[in-house]
Amino acid sequence: MKKIDLKKIPSEFLRLIEIVSKEADIQNIDAYLVGGFVRDVLIEKKNLDIDIVVEFDAIELAKEISQKHKTTITSYPHFGTATLSWESGAKIDLASARKERYSRPGALPIVSAGVIRDDLMRRDFTINAMAISINKKSFGVLVDEFHGFEDLMEKKIRVFHEKSFIDDPTRILRAIRFEQRLGFQIEKQTREFLIDAIESDAAATVTPGRYLEEFKKILKEAECEKHLKRLGELGGLGFIHLRMSAETLNVELLKSIGRSLEWFQENCDLSLSLSRWIVYFMGILDSLGLDEVRNSLEKSSLSRKDQEKVFSSKTECEVIGGLLVEAIKPSQAYKILNRLSLEELVFFLAKTKDESVKRSIEKFLTDYRHIKILTDGKDLIGLGVTDGKQIKEILQNLLYKKIDGELQTKGDEDNYLQQMELK
Ligand code: ATP
Repeated sequence: MKKIDLKKIPSEFLRLIEIVSKEADIQNIDAYLVGGFVRDVLIEKKNLDIDIVVEFDAIELAKEISQKHKTTITSYPHFGTATLSWESGAKIDLASARKERYSRPGALPIVSAGVIRDDLMRRDFTINAMAISINKKSFGVLVDEFHGFEDLMEKKIRVFHEKSFIDDPTRILRAIRFEQRLGFQIEKQTREFLIDAIESDAAATVTPGRYLEEFKKILKEAECEKHLKRLGELGGLGFIHLRMSAETLNVELLKSIGRSLEWFQENCDLSLSLSRWIVYFMGILDSLGLDEVRNSLEKSSLSRKDQEKVFSSKTECEVIGGLLVEAIKPSQAYKILNRLSLEELVFFLAKTKDESVKRSIEKFLTDYRHIKILTDGKDLIGLGVTDGKQIKEILQNLLYKKIDGELQTKGDEDNYLQQMELK
């Protein structure tokens, strides 16, 4: 029997685990830490996504806890799960132990109530199928019925059975993600099952939306180009486009995207919502022709808006580069760049080899796009301008002048307006 020292968990989180533990003991329910949290505790990797499985109705238990402690509860009756959120921002996910079976490959599983063993057996890999008891009498005892600990120490990703990737092809992407993130290896037989699943086009049995959700997780990983390259080597990029492979992947561009995203994070307003994964998606499709990109996007489950962004990254890149080289004044660069999405801007920043184009995009992102004029429509109406179109034009010109550094203060703007013959 292996006992894990949970004292290594940050005390704030340990305290929350103890709250659940106490309530589980009062109600005489077996409760366990499970999944990625256990895996990461065992390899001393930081993970604050606490998942607890109980051999009872998780929502009932969560309600009890939320009444006694200052927590908000969000429950998902359809899945038998609940999330407890504390004011500090900490969260714990509670789920009822369950059994799963697949009615057909790629379908969502049919779920029924079970015990901890059933709950661990339904999981993807042995390293993700361990639990740690949190009841007082057995606090810290590791439940490891499938040799997960051994695989974890040997750095192996192993499935439970040969149909695992067929039952749920999203596990293909998960296997590669954990292998690359943790620096592990997909165990030999598991690799054969995985390649068989890829070759039999198992991914086609899952809805594109579900597959994309798991793929996005790869694109959110650090150095995701390594994951993508590995996926390509195993033949698993065909779901994007049949011609996509490790060879067609532009790894240098993907690395450059990583650097541009880092630059963006360090230098730009972080409240701007930028989808990092879309920028990478643009990079992946970069080696395909226009029609191939269109085909790939049409069969993807990307929203219309995201499809347009990605398609435009393909059509606009060279045009924009050419225009920017000719833009002498900052306002000219502003006019060219202001109609692009943030994702396109970061993608172009990563793609261009022209230093002056790079500088223009960086300047646009850090400076030009934040410049605001101090005159507004009311001021112009006060000066006798009544035509809406003319108001818009004047305000725009004021902004361009300010971007070019010709106006600074409100007084400069007033002087400029006085010089114009406004009607
Ligand atoms: P991460 O560190 O990326 O959050 P995680 O292991 O916590 O990884 P999640 O996607 O949050 O992964 O899933 C939580 C747990 O649920 C996993 O550890 C695994 O046990 C189980 N799980 C998730 N997806 C699957 C799947 N497709 N098939 C089987 N089990 C899964």
